Amino acid sequence: MRRIVIIGGGVAGLGAAYKIRRAADAGHEVDFVLIEKDPRIGGKLLTERVGEFIVDGGSDAFIAQKPAVMRVAGLAGFADRRMPSDESRKKTLILKKGHLYPMPDGVMQFAPTKFWPFATTRLFSWPGKVRAGMDLFIPKKKLAPGESNDETLQSLVTRRMGHEILDRLAEPLVGGVHASDPALMSLAATFPNLLDMEQRYGSLVRGFLAQRRIAEEMRRKYPIDPKNPRTFFNSFLGGMQELPDGMAAAAAGPEGIRTGCTATRLERSAGGWKVHTSAGEIIDADGVIVATEGWAASDLTAPVDPELSSLLATIPHSSSATVSLGFDTDELGFSLDAFGVLCPLVEHRALMAATYSSTKWPNRAPKGKALMRGFVGGPHNQAIMSRSDEELIDIVNSEMRAILGLRVEPTFGRVYRWINGMPQYTMGHLDRVCRIERRVGEVPGLGLGGGSYRGIGIPNCIESGEAAVSKVLGDLGIALEEDEVPAEAPRT
Ligand SMILES: Cc1cc2nc3c(=O)[nH]c(=O)nc-3n(C[C@H](O)[C@H](O)[C@H](O)COP(=O)(O)OP(=O)(O)OC[C@H]3O[C@@H](n4cnc5c(N)ncnc54)[C@H](O)[C@@H]3O)c2cc1C
Repeated sequence: MRRIVIIGGGVAGLGAAYKIRRAADAGHEVDFVLIEKDPRIGGKLLTERVGEFIVDGGSDAFIAQKPAVMRVAGLAGFADRRMPSDESRKKTLILKKGHLYPMPDGVMQFAPTKFWPFATTRLFSWPGKVRAGMDLFIPKKKLAPGESNDETLQSLVTRRMGHEILDRLAEPLVGGVHASDPALMSLAATFPNLLDMEQRYGSLVRGFLAQRRIAEEMRRKYPIDPKNPRTFFNSFLGGMQELPDGMAAAAAGPEGIRTGCTATRLERSAGGWKVHTSAGEIIDADGVIVATEGWAASDLTAPVDPELSSLLATIPHSSSATVSLGFDTDELGFSLDAFGVLCPLVEHRALMAATYSSTKWPNRAPKGKALMRGFVGGPHNQAIMSRSDEELIDIVNSEMRAILGLRVEPTFGRVYRWINGMPQYTMGHLDRVCRIERRVGEVPGLGLGGGSYRGIGIPNCIESGEAAVSKVLGDLGIALEEDEVPAEAPRT
């Protein structure tokens, strides 16, 4: 029996664990021990019940366009727990000079694809609108033969559509997903579709129009089932924690999952691996999968491969926090008919964004109550992370008063801190990851997974854990069959 130690109980580590379980069920002589330093599994997925409220402290959604979450949920038997967002109240508001404006209809990522909503919105000045329209005429960037195409979000958007589109849409919408600085963020590593679009269509607007036509064609071909609607944002009925819990239940093996157990050191010898833990235990293994944040992987791999450890240390991470507040809806002071508010950096607010959690997911608050969540921190405001929980609750509460017109005091507040929790895919990220992967490839029995490398989204993280299993078992001479992906209509 081959034993693999998985370090890290986020979705990447659990994706690895569940894949090993499936390999064992298929007859391979392999098992795993997963060790997680926190007292709970899930990593950046965390749901807490506060009375009748369901509060997500980390990720609050997954995107089903990328199939990994629903594939895993389907294999493990909990796909029917998927919860679509309530599209009937989907609206995004954007703060501009103290006023909130709805995002114009037809905006895709950050590019307008419908003329009238864009022409009539007061979110942009007339010169800003004209400058955005120049995207249709500006020639595409010339690439030398063989030149790899990369650019920051800021550079691409200002070059093609001007500063207003960057400041009011691209930075809060696209940069916000990664809590990243648009002046540093590599598009090749985050949204390569934008670079491809410019090269293929000569214009981002033309590229998004083509995408919109494809999406409309798909919707005609695969009409929406009102009982099981396909939505962009998805969660689970009991909150995002259902995903790691469901994966852990499906993966659990004889040695299983140990929480409250920190891996402190890795050792490698001709006979295999030794994983030292905070409990003073030494676990023998044939392979090790490190599914932690990149900086934690750097610490762990230092004794085994100092060069790999140094490469891992070059991936920067930033800290952020979510602050969830519960309210009675009487006299709230503002309409709950929206999914969220974006506060662009140019507004210089402590609040980066707010989600109307119980509008997006109606069961998150009991009748007559509302759940709101504020997002603070990110690379431009690391100083706020030194504030106490009480101070963060006060800050988010007063930001909601000033920005939304909130009039009542919260009935409760919860703060969730993600210290060095958001990897920053800065320029050169893909080169760094390629070098890391080459190095890992030279260490037999070592696998690496997680959101620090090839995608921070939950589906990407699950796939990275699964890929690490294929690598490690391959090193041990075990070749795996690919899982069958459940057939379903393409997502639009
Ligand atoms: C506030 C926030 C909101 C987000 N929202 C979304 C969203 O809506 N949708 C989306 O797709 N993505 C979202 N993301 C990103 C996504 O949640 C993460 O990229 C993903 O969950 C990371 O999973 P992971 O398994 O790679 O790492 P993690 O979840 O970070 O798990 C790594 C685990 O390793 C453990 N660990 C570290 N060191 C050790 C050690 N030495 N020994 C044992 N255990 C160790 C940690 O405790 C942790 O549990 C969000 C992230 C944050 C922070």
